[in-house]
Amino acid sequence: MKLTVLGCAGTFPGPDSPCSSYLVEHDGFRLVLDLGAGAVGQLQRHVGLLDLDAVYLSHLHADHCLDLVGYSYARQLHPDGAPPPLPVYGPAGTAARLCAAFDSPPRNGLRDVYDFREVPVGQQQIGPFTVTTARMNHPVECHGLRVEAGGRSLVYSGDTGESEALVELAADCDLLLCEASWPDDPGRPAGVHLSGRQAGEHAERAGARRLLLTHLVAWTDPDVILGEARGAFGGPAELARCGQAYEL
Ligand SMILES: [Zn+2]
Ligand SMILES: [Zn+2]
Repeated sequence: MKLTVLGCAGTFPGPDSPCSSYLVEHDGFRLVLDLGAGAVGQLQRHVGLLDLDAVYLSHLHADHCLDLVGYSYARQLHPDGAPPPLPVYGPAGTAARLCAAFDSPPRNGLRDVYDFREVPVGQQQIGPFTVTTARMNHPVECHGLRVEAGGRSLVYSGDTGESEALVELAADCDLLLCEASWPDDPGRPAGVHLSGRQAGEHAERAGARRLLLTHLVAWTDPDVILGEARGAFGGPAELARCGQAYEL
């Protein structure tokens, strides 16, 4: 399994990265987790514009899904002809949320472009990937994802505050791609995001083999976040970098 970070900036794009988006490949199948602002640009550095097999949206906050609006034009208007509808998995309301971004309702509710599969948390077989999801601790329905293939496992937190469900989902995983949006501070609201320390604690309790920190917001000092995580997690921890690939 290969993970390529297409975007790892939290909340809004940073100077060095689009918002959340992760390309996961195995056996020639290309699954993208989230498609946040700017990610379609980075996508083209790694695969052909139309060469995706499925998308899974963790949740419907703009920094995780809104590039599907622009990307719909890329698929509809491509000079080689429009490809078949792309399977798009996401929480209930995915189709309506994306369609609401247009000034007039899109043709066929975008169903000529996207094959929407609004799913509750549970398990899906997506190409070669077994995808197990769990509800995270966030103000809207957010799915944390455990993606398994070839005996390897990647867990992506989506956006979450402290979550026992994340610890269970990430049990003994090969790589935990975990949000760490802000420095540790007791004044932060609960149930929204994790600090670097909390991300490290979740990885430690889950027994994750490796921790990759993502969703850092541009105004935070990444060294502070990384230091907090390393203080709480005994395994290897690093910051996700846009464009970087990771073999699992
Ligand atoms: Zn977010
Ligand atoms: Zn969010």
